[in-house]
Amino acid sequence: MSTEKIQPKLILHGGAGSSLKDKGGLTAVRQSLHSIIKEVYDLLLKDATAIDAVIKGCELLENEPRFNAGTGSVLQSDGQIRMSAGLMDGSRQSFSGVINVSRVKNPIQLAQSLQQQTDRLLSDYGAAEFCRELNVPIYDPLTDLRLQEWIEERKDNFTKKMAGTIAESRQGTIGVVVLDCFGNLAAGTSTGGKGLEKIGRVSDSAMPAGNYATNQAAVSCTGIGEDIIDECLAAKIVIRVADGLSLEAAVKKSILEAKENNRDLGAICLDATGAIAWGKTSEILLAAYHDGTTIGDTLELSPTEYIGTKI
Ligand code: ASP
Repeated sequence: MSTEKIQPKLILHGGAGSSLKDKGGLTAVRQSLHSIIKEVYDLLLKDATAIDAVIKGCELLENEPRFNAGTGSVLQSDGQIRMSAGLMDGSRQSFSGVINVSRVKNPIQLAQSLQQQTDRLLSDYGAAEFCRELNVPIYDPLTDLRLQEWIEERKDNFTKKMAGTIAESRQGTIGVVVLDCFGNLAAGTSTGGKGLEKIGRVSDSAMPAGNYATNQAAVSCTGIGEDIIDECLAAKIVIRVADGLSLEAAVKKSILEAKENNRDLGAICLDATGAIAWGKTSEILLAAYHDGTTIGDTLELSPTEYIGTKI
């Protein structure tokens, strides 16, 4: 680790999806994302490490009921909440996570505890046992809004392919990507899943396809998990950077491939030089970033603006 400090960078997201027409929704989403960006960036200015900043950012987003992670997670086909979270420390190139865990407030904290373990990715029963070992308090992440949405879906016999819509500001996996002042990169992603999925369906968020980091680049994805897995999006972008592409070129190439394949997804990315980038095939991406000087966001990109960078 170098001792010379650099300008920290931060990008986070609250999901991707279809059009955001509701302006009340837009303002509220912007306020949430910007206030979390500010809080996490202040920590980075006080020398927080990338991994600690990612965990803090994920906790704040998990605690915001607007987003589909932690409190406010969507319900699966059987009316239960099962959450997944992935965490990757780029400097140690170490991935950890939980898959389909229930009754906890912050799945990202479980991923954090697993970073130092020999077995670093636990699913449902094992994740619940791990919670017991850690004495994690039982917590019900269900909100009235999510329950009402599920009851409405039940009336239509679950004909939608995913729960809720962005237009109603109800959906949105969360993710945080950080470059700290020491030059370390990290990425974290947390989700309630697609909603209405089969019991046992595994999200991309706790896989390197949806969340990946090395000491060269870090990426968190959102969108239809199966599409993200089929593209292996997060790992693909990071590896393209490791093989010599600029972050912008790596994102552009990967998103164009995903578009060709009719995928519905988005990604937020940082590299070791401090370049920030985002890409999407979905109509909108709810991302915000801090480049060291200003806070910006992608909330009002046109559906055809599929990549962007801030260098
Ligand atoms: N990628 C998540 C999943 O498929 C959902 C999302 O990002 O909204 O589980």
